[in-house]
Amino acid sequence: MTQGKRSLVLVTVDCLRADHCGLYGYTRPTTPFLDALASESFVVPTAIVAGAPTYYSLPAILASRMPLALGRDVVGLAPGESTLATVLRESGYATGAFSAGNPYISPRFGYDQGFEVFHDFLDFEAQPVQNIVGAETPRRDSPRGQLNRSIRSFAGALGLSRLYNELYFQYCMKIAPAAKSVDALRKFPSADILVDQAQSWLASVGQRPFFLWLHLMDPHSPYYPPNEAYRELTGRDIEPGRARYLNEYWNRSDLTPPALSGKRDEVIQLCDAGIRWVDRQIARLVDSLRQSHRWDDCVFALTADHGEEFLEHGGRYHSPVRLSEEIIRVPLLIRVPGERGAKVPASPMSHLHLAPTLLEILGEQAPSAFQGRSLWTNLQKGIAWDDPAIIECAYGCTNPFRPESRSASRLLAVRDARFKLVMRVEPGATEEMYDLEADPAETRSSTDGPALGTRKRLLQAAHEHIEKTVSTRDPMMRLRARLRDLRCELFD
Ligand SMILES: [Zn+2]
Repeated sequence: MTQGKRSLVLVTVDCLRADHCGLYGYTRPTTPFLDALASESFVVPTAIVAGAPTYYSLPAILASRMPLALGRDVVGLAPGESTLATVLRESGYATGAFSAGNPYISPRFGYDQGFEVFHDFLDFEAQPVQNIVGAETPRRDSPRGQLNRSIRSFAGALGLSRLYNELYFQYCMKIAPAAKSVDALRKFPSADILVDQAQSWLASVGQRPFFLWLHLMDPHSPYYPPNEAYRELTGRDIEPGRARYLNEYWNRSDLTPPALSGKRDEVIQLCDAGIRWVDRQIARLVDSLRQSHRWDDCVFALTADHGEEFLEHGGRYHSPVRLSEEIIRVPLLIRVPGERGAKVPASPMSHLHLAPTLLEILGEQAPSAFQGRSLWTNLQKGIAWDDPAIIECAYGCTNPFRPESRSASRLLAVRDARFKLVMRVEPGATEEMYDLEADPAETRSSTDGPALGTRKRLLQAAHEHIEKTVSTRDPMMRLRARLRDLRCELFD
């Protein structure tokens, strides 16, 4: 029954912005392999996440479901929820997932469902030299700790807090043990380790059709790329001590964006080298699929769970406090054997539509619970679509392990081909609206004057979305997810 089916490789890269990929016009050579693959693929110019960060993005990618559809307090996939993996496993596929140690991609949040093999690398031996600033702080009650606090409050009273912070940072860096290599500083397993494991698994599945999901963390902070990738990108070797200094500096909470900006370019180079490493390892994976004669019947999709900020709007990393383009716009490349690819319309393609599209390409039926729809015909024939992309998350929730942080107000954006409305769904909240054509950097919000009609239209879409969220909520699914959470809270 399973003969003749196509296989699927889905790669999600954490923190990969569309505009840091060569195929989206980036000038630095981060993605030579993907750039070449783009010529035989469908490259979606405006792929938009359904939420950010990871835990608000992945439900749409794997289960075609908006992140807050089961309630703000539900994070991850619900027990028994239909996903790409459950559908394909049911249909006879071998299913395997390899995720590079992202703490939210785990059985705790339901991501192992449908996978025969699920390796989350959460047992990866992270080196104990992370966040050295503060780590050397003496105990509060020790004489050194008391002295430290006295100096800090004395400096504060004299208006010298900035000087104190700077000296304290430099002191921590000075007394930190020497950094021997970037490999020893890395927090997550690099892409080569995951590709090695994926290759071993692929060798074990025989001729069955397979679904392989890889989630790679190389561009994620702290930015410690393999030296080879850094050299390929910059022509220089990484100096491990400098890489650590940059990461620690970039992580400082006492500095303003102007103070941080002096290190921005160097930090971006480190992140970009992580992207280059991902590209190289994907090339290696594809090469092995070619050698084993699996590539010719293999659909390949690459995207990201969200982007990354480098001070464009004052922020770093990817906290869910704004839904600017740096965060929500990701690459999406779909390579289908036998299809030459076509120019894809610039309509925003929500991740919500990815799983149904992939299932149609594979000739499989999408579950009725999927909220998105297949855009396969639109991609093939270059037909634009009208519906805007909706993006949502709980405002400021940076640690969903703490249930109370999930209950913040909903941050919602509606993005069409030209405009974006961003709002916090709470009484008295103000909105921001950007004309991305006239102002791609989102520097001028305008909700009145000529923008009034557009605002009304996007607000209407936001209201319809919220109403639909409530009216179509699956109470049993929600209950199962809440019970799982409760069990984890009680016993973890
Ligand atoms: Zn992420």
